[in-house]
Amino acid sequence: MDKQHLTKFYQKTKQERIEALVSAGLIHEEATTAFSSKIHLSDEVANHMIENQIATYQVPLGLGLNFFINGKDYAVPMATEEPSVIAAASFAAKTIQQAGGFKTTVGDRAMIGQIALKNVEDMNKAEEIILQHADAIIDLANQAHPSIVKRGGGARSIQIRKIQADPTYQTPAFLVIHIHAQTLEAMGANIINTMVEAVKPYLENVTGGTALMGILSNYATECLVTATCRIPTNQLAKEPYTGEQVRDRIIEACQFALVDPYRAVTHNKGIMNGIDAVVLATGNDTRAIEAGIHAYATRSGQYRSLTNWTKAENGDLLGEITIPLPIGTVGGSISIHPAAKFSMKLLGNPAAKELEAIIASIGLAQNFAAVRALVTEGIQKGHMGLQAKSLAITAGAKGDQIEVVTEQLKQAPNMNLATAKAILAQLN
Ligand code: NDP
Repeated sequence: MDKQHLTKFYQKTKQERIEALVSAGLIHEEATTAFSSKIHLSDEVANHMIENQIATYQVPLGLGLNFFINGKDYAVPMATEEPSVIAAASFAAKTIQQAGGFKTTVGDRAMIGQIALKNVEDMNKAEEIILQHADAIIDLANQAHPSIVKRGGGARSIQIRKIQADPTYQTPAFLVIHIHAQTLEAMGANIINTMVEAVKPYLENVTGGTALMGILSNYATECLVTATCRIPTNQLAKEPYTGEQVRDRIIEACQFALVDPYRAVTHNKGIMNGIDAVVLATGNDTRAIEAGIHAYATRSGQYRSLTNWTKAENGDLLGEITIPLPIGTVGGSISIHPAAKFSMKLLGNPAAKELEAIIASIGLAQNFAAVRALVTEGIQKGHMGLQAKSLAITAGAKGDQIEVVTEQLKQAPNMNLATAKAILAQLN
């Protein structure tokens, strides 16, 4: 990528941005004319994707810029309806790029399938029997989806969890068998579901229990990714605060989100602004990722911050995020939706592990931008500037009026819809 062409991207018109992407070598064959229609989801494809389809619902697709991850530059496609998310991510990524960029570690990418057994007479005995039959269970799972085995993946191990009856909730005991399987480039929901359904009768047979269900778990604790960054304090100063003060305030903001769930939920929502945008842009399952990540935030027994900001021995600010990220680069709508295919191409068609690294870095960047703003000038200054544009459009401003109303709104004592309408009425 020749990133020179992407400088001052936000000041360009949409057509100039598309041309810049061509000049930067990020897109090739796409004619700059009819660009949007080429990545538009046709009614025909949409009708095959879901049931009872009547239209398509559009969300803007933008680019998170300045991402330097494991020594490589990325322009990251982000699909979001929320103003300021992409600006914040790009700002944070620029600071982090100047500090050396993001470093990531990606784990094993094993997905978990569960089989829940009830009415098991002796849990300990059943556990013993299942462990004796572990190889047979893994073989059965693999026989159910031979193509993933041929590709080099498949079921690898099992784990047993004994969940006792709970009088508070009046729930019975469950014996839960987890199958850990490598689904390679796929998120693997259908692969896993096929495997667990196949081993259900066998487990009933050897334990004498009754299978309640076999299903993928979206709590993907065997598919973790960590992104880190290190920022010297001389890059953090923001009037009236010194770099050291901003660093300490960011660390304290994180400490607050580590101990207070009311704050942690909002802190993590900001992280998900970026994560969801890339997950959606690349055709992945936003609900699966959201559910897993929020569950992971509660792993200590309390909902906490997904990020951790600390002080290095030399005084630098250290940032870290660890999240489960069972995304895919094939399967589902990834290879069907033209905008998803385009997004993957913009990223250089990364493998699933590389895409995990990109998405975790976006989450960390988003958190840095939000927390830095919160502990310095406050969130509203930057946010409301962009919000003003939405208000202007909601009030009915069109074409050049949008910029004029936006600018006047920013100066107005009350930035709200009524003021936007009043400004527009004066223009008309
Ligand atoms: P698919 O069912 O589309 O399966 C992916 C397929 O891609 C594989 O079966 C495999 O086919 C093929 N493939 C090609 N190359 C590779 C490769 N290198 N690595 C792995 N597979 C490859 O997708 P998923 O199983 O990933 O399921 C994802 C979809 O399931 C999403 O749309 C999600 O929304 C949905 N879903 C989610 C659930 C949840 O989250 N709880 C539950 C149910 C569905 P082959 O090897 O056979 O040729």
